Amino acid sequence: MANNEDQFKKVISHAKEYGYIFGSSEIYDGLSAVYDYAQNGVELKKNIREYWWKSMVYMHQNIVGLDAAILMHPKTWKASGHVDAFSDPLIDNKDSKKRYRADVLIEDHAEKLENKAQKEITKAKKRFGDSFNETEFVTTNARVIGYREKKAEMLSTMARLLEAEDLLGVKALIEELGIVCPVSGSKNWTDVKQFNLMFGTKLGASAETATDLYLRPETAQGIFVNFLNVQKTGRMRIPFGIAQTGKAFRNEIVARQFIFRMREFEQMEMQFFVRPGQEMKWYDYWKETRLKWHHSLGLGPENYRFHDHEKLAHYANAATDIEFKFPFGFKELEGIHSRTDFDLKAHEAHSGKKLQFFDPELKENYTPYVVETSIGLDRMFLAVFSNSLQEETLEDGSSRTVLRLPAILAPVKIAVFPLIKRDGLPELAKQIIEDLKWDYNVFYDEKDAVGKRYRRQDANGTPFCVTVDHQTLEDKTVTIRHRDTMEQERIAISDISDLVSKSLSMKDWLQ
Ligand code: ATP
Repeated sequence: MANNEDQFKKVISHAKEYGYIFGSSEIYDGLSAVYDYAQNGVELKKNIREYWWKSMVYMHQNIVGLDAAILMHPKTWKASGHVDAFSDPLIDNKDSKKRYRADVLIEDHAEKLENKAQKEITKAKKRFGDSFNETEFVTTNARVIGYREKKAEMLSTMARLLEAEDLLGVKALIEELGIVCPVSGSKNWTDVKQFNLMFGTKLGASAETATDLYLRPETAQGIFVNFLNVQKTGRMRIPFGIAQTGKAFRNEIVARQFIFRMREFEQMEMQFFVRPGQEMKWYDYWKETRLKWHHSLGLGPENYRFHDHEKLAHYANAATDIEFKFPFGFKELEGIHSRTDFDLKAHEAHSGKKLQFFDPELKENYTPYVVETSIGLDRMFLAVFSNSLQEETLEDGSSRTVLRLPAILAPVKIAVFPLIKRDGLPELAKQIIEDLKWDYNVFYDEKDAVGKRYRRQDANGTPFCVTVDHQTLEDKTVTIRHRDTMEQERIAISDISDLVSKSLSMKDWLQ
């Protein structure tokens, strides 16, 4: 565990040191869970977005893009359920001043009973050896049954209280269970309050006439309200999809873990509209297709897993997360949801406008079902960045820090160095850049010994370094060095572009 924590700290400090991510408004001591993308970060983020966009929009003839506004008519959020249901129940401990989600406190407490049951099972396994029959044991052992019954009762009481919005009851349950604050150890709790995660703002010039608006908590609704506009003007036929990337805002209560959970973040979402009854087929298709996309980046298939939801959101009839192994463990990276016709129907009801599709094959109108793929761009950034940062011991015993970003995502593709700062080498290096800059983000560096410059680019994630030396003046060849293998080869200046472009082919990466 300590190792993972250290690794995560390294990720955060490396992101700052190499110009990837800064805390927001740092000179004023920052703003919690809000971050700025720096000179390299903005490039990496843009490249991830583009890799997603091309794979979704350009690779599917029946998917088109959209860029809806962040501000939307307030009724949108009533229809989507966010005004009434997008909230967490909060409780504060008066001694530690720490804030918790009341449901999480109770769930953690219930989990302790499960741990006790597991201990009994492990003990019995040891005692009975090969003859142990676990199914029989857990259905007949009084202790295990007791722990599990208590746990189930606790969770169902909680669910009933939350459902009935009985917050006093939730507090009473916490007290009755004797739950203590993990920090102060005390039972000195405040009342439970519902806390809506949406950020409110105002539209209009004067306080009296202003309309209350929300910053969108997800990009999906911008797609739903435009469903018919896109379908008609694009002459789309079911099945078809609408893809969108953009900012979303959530006033997260417990915002930790760097850019994993932010208050302002970016989503990459695609809503796929299908015939009712065919949603499970498409749900399976998108599960597989999205996992393939992740695997294509080469971060290691063992770092991904599906987590199917048992408890479904009010709008879904199937849902799964693609989880990634972050430095702090497997956590959600992307959600794939079969959203039924919930959203379109809700918008029909609240707007009074029909949002249906006339299916020429079936010769009938219907409200399409929707399968959604939704991935956090910042979380994807963290997945790529943390997985790529490696400390290597070299053959000579020395070590190097290398950021093995997939070349197609790397912010800087080529760094060009003159071996020394005279004899016309800098001029020649800059001439080479003049030619390459039309196709690649190129970086020039003449400071320090070449070895040191290589190491800086390794840590920066640059896949290729080109060095111009005296031989270049004679035969127009350069040394090109590969980040991952550290191999160097001599090639003609005129061949640099071809060599680099081969490693950046979207077709090769995606296939
Ligand atoms: P979580 O359970 O982690 O709060 P969620 O299930 O609420 O996430 P969704 O509403 O399904 O998330 O949003 C889709 C994706 O948006 C998530 O898979 C995640 O990658 C990203 N995302 C959600 N909330 C945040 C956040 N606060 N900061 C960064 N990314 C986020």
